[in-house]
Amino acid sequence: MTPRRPVTVAIDGPAGSGKSTVSKQVARQLGYAYVDTGAMYRAVALLGMRAGLAQEDRAGFAAQAAQARMEFRVTEAGQRFLVNGEDCTEAVRDPAVGARSSPVSAIPEVRQHLTAAQQRLAAGGGVVMEGRDIGTVVCPAAEVKVFVTATPPERARRRYLELQAKGKDVTEAEVLAEITERDRRDSSREVAPLRMAEDAHELVTDGLSIEEVVGRIIDLVREAEAR
Ligand code: C5P
Repeated sequence: MTPRRPVTVAIDGPAGSGKSTVSKQVARQLGYAYVDTGAMYRAVALLGMRAGLAQEDRAGFAAQAAQARMEFRVTEAGQRFLVNGEDCTEAVRDPAVGARSSPVSAIPEVRQHLTAAQQRLAAGGGVVMEGRDIGTVVCPAAEVKVFVTATPPERARRRYLELQAKGKDVTEAEVLAEITERDRRDSSREVAPLRMAEDAHELVTDGLSIEEVVGRIIDLVREAEAR
């Protein structure tokens, strides 16, 4: 059998595309490391909030991004995200932290520090990295680039079912309006807008199961490893 060479897998796409679930499973099945770059932006927001920084304090957030030690660990309790040694896996998912992470991710100095940290984590390959600008900015030489997406109505339907299961009182139309607005903001912002790398494989997941999406990405990785 040909020896396999561990590669870098860049997975980008909009919110609600299912890319996080898929990325984690791809990493687990391949025995690769998994890096959730959104969690890193969220961590900077969380640290800034704890430090009482005002939203416009760019230097303050940049300093947090420069100093924070971030680690992704596989444990018996699954994938954990450590910030300065503290398990922040759940804390960064807080909706207030998510809301703050959006303006924080638009600060160029924050992006510079986190991009450098992400490039260190990807060095040597054997990693699945997910985000918005992995195939375009962080790892432009990644051997496998996938842009995972779904049509806005499909993403709205998934998000609506999720919110409904949590007992949230929203309509599908409201969720669709919110997703459409977020897409517009994410793809039109000046710093690292969301766009597909020219050499990425686009995977539109409408009508596909998670297993099918994972399977297609693993096939691409196996081909790249054998090259
Ligand atoms: O994907 P998630 O919701 O966890 O991302 C948190 C925030 O970080 C979002 O505002 C997203 O636009 C931003 N982000 C980014 N670049 C990445 C990953 C996430 O700007 N590579």
